[in-house]
Amino acid sequence: MAMELNSMHKLYVDLLKDLYSTENQLVEALPKMAKGASSSELRQGFEQHLTQTKGQVKRLEQIFSNLEFSPAGKKCVGMEGLIKEGEEILKEEMESPMRDAALITAAQKVEHYEMAGYGTARTFAEILGEANAVRLLQETLDEEKMTDERLTRLAESHINRQALRPDGRGNGR
Ligand code: FE
Ligand code: FE
Repeated sequence: MAMELNSMHKLYVDLLKDLYSTENQLVEALPKMAKGASSSELRQGFEQHLTQTKGQVKRLEQIFSNLEFSPAGKKCVGMEGLIKEGEEILKEEMESPMRDAALITAAQKVEHYEMAGYGTARTFAEILGEANAVRLLQETLDEEKMTDERLTRLAESHINRQALRPDGRGNGR
């Protein structure tokens, strides 16, 4: 049993390092996504989530301060790929409402990826009896879920409809 807990602990630390890399990559990427957004609501959404993301980095650092490991030293390649997808959208020639719709898609993939990681990390922390970490990871998980829901609302309320009008008449800036 002790050995099983040890391997679980290793998985847990690796996952936390992955999340730390994920969040730091997003701190770099979100300002570019905000700059590329035409809808002011979408831009503000990205900016708001950038502030939250910086707080999420701090939460992970808080968790690591109680572990005998450094949070650095791992690059999350999954997030690297998702961010590349976002960068491709920003490089493409596109009408702005369509670009907004595409940026929302990329951002929702990111949030779902994070939700999967944080959900698992929280469950691992529960099993390992790390009550403080459970609380911190749950807080971030809730933020990612809310961000995802906000993006869905934004897409469904008007951005998808505007993307259907390539002449830009629907661009409600
Ligand atoms: Fe995050
Ligand atoms: Fe996020």
